[in-house]
Amino acid sequence: IVDKRIRHDCHYCKDPAFSHSPRGIGLGVLVREYGKLSNLDKFYFAFPGELLMRMLKLIILPLIISSMITGVAALDSSISGKIGLRAVVYYVSTTIIAVILGIILVVTIKPGVTQRASEIHRVGSTPEVNTVDAMLDLLRNMFPENLVQACFQQYKTKREKVKATIAVDKNSSLFREEPTTTATAAKASENKTQEYKIVGTYSNGINALGLIVFCLVFGMVIGKMGEKGQVLLDFFNALNEATMRIVQIIMWYMPIGILFLIAGKIIEVEDWEIFRKLGLYMATVISGLAIHSSIILPLIYLIIVRKNPLRFAMGMAQALLTALMISSSSATLPVTFRCAEENNLIDKRITRFVLPVGATINMDGTALYEAVAAVFIAQLNDLELDIGQIITISVTATAASIGAAGVPQAGLVTMVIVLSAVGLPAEDVTLIIAVDWLLDRFRTMVNVLGDAFGTGVVEKLSKRELEQMDVTSEVNIVNPF
Ligand code: ASP
Repeated sequence: IVDKRIRHDCHYCKDPAFSHSPRGIGLGVLVREYGKLSNLDKFYFAFPGELLMRMLKLIILPLIISSMITGVAALDSSISGKIGLRAVVYYVSTTIIAVILGIILVVTIKPGVTQRASEIHRVGSTPEVNTVDAMLDLLRNMFPENLVQACFQQYKTKREKVKATIAVDKNSSLFREEPTTTATAAKASENKTQEYKIVGTYSNGINALGLIVFCLVFGMVIGKMGEKGQVLLDFFNALNEATMRIVQIIMWYMPIGILFLIAGKIIEVEDWEIFRKLGLYMATVISGLAIHSSIILPLIYLIIVRKNPLRFAMGMAQALLTALMISSSSATLPVTFRCAEENNLIDKRITRFVLPVGATINMDGTALYEAVAAVFIAQLNDLELDIGQIITISVTATAASIGAAGVPQAGLVTMVIVLSAVGLPAEDVTLIIAVDWLLDRFRTMVNVLGDAFGTGVVEKLSKRELEQMDVTSEVNIVNPF
């Protein structure tokens, strides 16, 4: 699967956002200067970009379903051993740490916030909905009551006023359900406690969280079913393959779509403040990636392996440089193998199994970037996210990074899942596409470094198993990907 995905995308020169973002900006500036377009013209001008967004949204559903189910099922059937389990636990935990770091940074730095706090409003929920309700909604959305409905609607709690209970003299004229004059209303509101009832509603937008949870469980069950589950596994593998091919077709259209998306955005920009915000957004992502790769990952390595993490990272230098140049962790894999085995002397029985798993599911950089980008887009829209929505972003960013292929800008495609999960406008990925070619390179480096540190950690934790292994069991460690 990995090989097929790489073939189309790995070339530096084919990177659509790299070559077409500047062209889009150029076209936008030209049309803005000389085009004299009316509002209606601008709308039509951006149409090819709108088509790209529609295609990306269209592919979300088969993408989540097929990549989650096949990914988990493949892991489950191959990871019977402790070594595999350790690799997965390490990879998933470091990804979660990366997401939390990203969220902390973006909430603190606030790259997308305009300093007009009073205008900030919440996404989709009424102010009366408190944290408890938000958390309960999160759980409700994780367990949708109807799978088909989850493909296009999310559960949302609303509070509705029930009645006013008045705590004062019941004979007074204030004792009525709805006070009529402003004066009596004001007086009454001092004395009454408002009662609410929770009303369940549904709002439009894919319930990505519910689908992800369902697919994870479904994949795990199929993985454990062995022979009996094979038909289903074959079906979802084929679906995954077909979806990937459709993604490639969309990738062909991507250059045109991106050109017009960006040009369309440039001609409608009125507030040039956006460029300052974009700069701050890039700084947030890059500092998050830097902290994760130079402090957190080395610290985990140091604590567990008790060797010099800097020397380990230096051993991976060639792989990191390759990742920076080609923005693809899958295509970097051969170099990652060589660096880990020859420079860092990691046992081949570990690298051959752990690295391919890492290249498929472990993308710390991508997860961090997706979380930061989603909160940034919310900030740009003056929307305040509640705790439930922040957790939703964290969970979907983690899942989206697991589902993303290790090819250039795969994170941009799965970004749409994160945005739709919290009801943010998916069209706003336009804003970050222009700078994505650069961030993609840095996050791919972090993805590769995370995979590499994983081999060191798993090797250390698996010393006993490795010693016990004879030649036969060595053959049993197969690469499921
Ligand atoms: N380019 C990244 C990788 O190959 C994936 C992404 O975040 O777009 O690891």
